[in-house]
Amino acid sequence: MPDTPNLDERRAALESIAKEVRGCDQCPLHSGRTKAVPGAGRADADIMFIGEAPGYYEDQQGLPFVGASGKYLDQLLGQIGLSRQDVFITNVIKCRPPGNRDPLPAEIETCTGAYLDRQIEIIRPRLIATLGRFSMALFFPKNSRISRIHGQPKRSGGRIYYPLFHPAAVLRNPNLRPVMEEDFKRMLTLIEEIDQAGEIEDEPPPPKQLSLF
Ligand code: SF4
Repeated sequence: MPDTPNLDERRAALESIAKEVRGCDQCPLHSGRTKAVPGAGRADADIMFIGEAPGYYEDQQGLPFVGASGKYLDQLLGQIGLSRQDVFITNVIKCRPPGNRDPLPAEIETCTGAYLDRQIEIIRPRLIATLGRFSMALFFPKNSRISRIHGQPKRSGGRIYYPLFHPAAVLRNPNLRPVMEEDFKRMLTLIEEIDQAGEIEDEPPPPKQLSLF
């Protein structure tokens, strides 16, 4: 892949990854899936959403976020003037865990190393929005709590990382709806920053604590 791949090259590279995903047997989850779910959207999207794992409907259709959480995600995108065609949506792992259990650390390591990392490298999104704690844990310190850091962007390596609740968690707990909607609205400011900035500046390191003694 050249240094700055064009749109066709990115599409071809993503399709080739998707083919690998559909035939993948690198972790035990392959044996229980109906369809693997590689991800979908613009090959050169500025914004990439990363959820946790396919659920029942995603597993049936081979597409990300097609159940109730997907409808809610569509609504949230619509509220800030975006649609699925403007972004890329995928998950940390590409096959549904049995009974929708949490993905295991070994499954996450295998799957992200094989596919997600390469998808990010090809798409080169300028903003990665994590949906839920499993994708948040890929980019934020391990002891981060989503209830504390949601909606707080981190700028690093020329990119913005933006932690959000998982839409399914919001559907389970309607009290989170206004919070989620505010976090989505705040993305508009981040998108403006991306549009205006040639480069996303990294955060300055935290100031050193002065000792009083
Ligand atoms: S979850 Fe990922 S690594 Fe495991 S079988 Fe599916 S595509 Fe392969």
